[in-house]
Amino acid sequence: MAKPNLYDLDLPALEALLGTWGEPRYRAKQIWEWLYRHLVTDVAQMTSLPKVLRERLTAETELYVPRVLARQESLDGETRKDLLELRDGQSIEVVLMRYIERRSACISTQVGCAVGCQFCATGQMGIKRNLTSGEIVTQVLHLARELDAQGQKLTNVVLMGMGEPFLNYNNTLAALRTLIHPGGFEMGQRRITLSTSGIAPAIRRFADEDLQVNLAVSLHAATDALRNELMPINRKHNLNELFGAIGDYLTKTNRRVTFEWVLIDGVNDTPEQAEALAARTAGMLIHVNLIPLNPTAGYAGQPSSEERIEAFTQILERRHVPFTLRLRRGIDIQAGCGQLRARTT
Ligand code: SAH
Ligand code: SF4
Repeated sequence: MAKPNLYDLDLPALEALLGTWGEPRYRAKQIWEWLYRHLVTDVAQMTSLPKVLRERLTAETELYVPRVLARQESLDGETRKDLLELRDGQSIEVVLMRYIERRSACISTQVGCAVGCQFCATGQMGIKRNLTSGEIVTQVLHLARELDAQGQKLTNVVLMGMGEPFLNYNNTLAALRTLIHPGGFEMGQRRITLSTSGIAPAIRRFADEDLQVNLAVSLHAATDALRNELMPINRKHNLNELFGAIGDYLTKTNRRVTFEWVLIDGVNDTPEQAEALAARTAGMLIHVNLIPLNPTAGYAGQPSSEERIEAFTQILERRHVPFTLRLRRGIDIQAGCGQLRARTT
């Protein structure tokens, strides 16, 4: 049997493992702190543990710290993308975005993605496999360690890298719970945003998790005809079903939902779509993030022109739809939204 990766265990599981070794419960808490407070990368660094326990951990468990296969910096120095190697040789991309006040990690939940949105490079590569919770957490630790060494802190985490988090629900939730654990990494829940393509039943389930993590939904079209075309998931969970689930989420949590809208020239930046978006979201506690399309090799669409963006946003303003036009980041290194895929060239 493969050795368990310590990052895949939650605290109760770690306590249970140490229990079977006859170790007292507080040892698990100590290890947890070494992993998520002190961010060590090697059991040998856990100096408060007896040597025999360190030896047993080394022999019977693994502390999988992924190797960086490639690193790219954007020209403005604000965005950086690392290609990380996983144990089975698969690879994932993780992006660090530096703003004036914030440093955000954009992390992946799957190798590839099965949802197959037309405009997305991850979708274009198909699904390889789910990430384990440890593989999700480790991406955050990877960036946090490095910032730590520079006297800085990671302030935000967005689950907007490769994959659909709600098609890897259990591992994603386990990773979130590890990241927010008060005895360890203690990331503020409100500083985490999960983005989904709209897996309606999972949105309802997420509403019951009693979390304060932000929810973003990739909408991109406000009519079924267009959304079916851009995002095949809409044929499974159409707009009525999606908005039903979001309505329930809002009622239960009273937490603002963000809609993401990639602006594709001549496709979803029409006055009809702006009107449909306004009609669909009227009276809801939401915010729309408009993102000009980032080009990908497998899709011919282009980002909307300034004039079209202007016309689109004017309608949203007139209809009182709250929105932000987001800056495109890291485009020169293919680290923008939807440009991530597992490759080095
Ligand atoms: N699978 C999840 C999260 C990862 S994608 C989701 O789809 O929400 C993160 C965001 O990037 C989504 O809003 C997605 O629609 C957007 N995106 C995908 N391809 C893009 C592209 N080429 N340009 C800009 N944004 C893109
Ligand atoms: Fe998957 Fe999100 Fe890309 Fe769609 S946009 S293919 S859901 S990663």
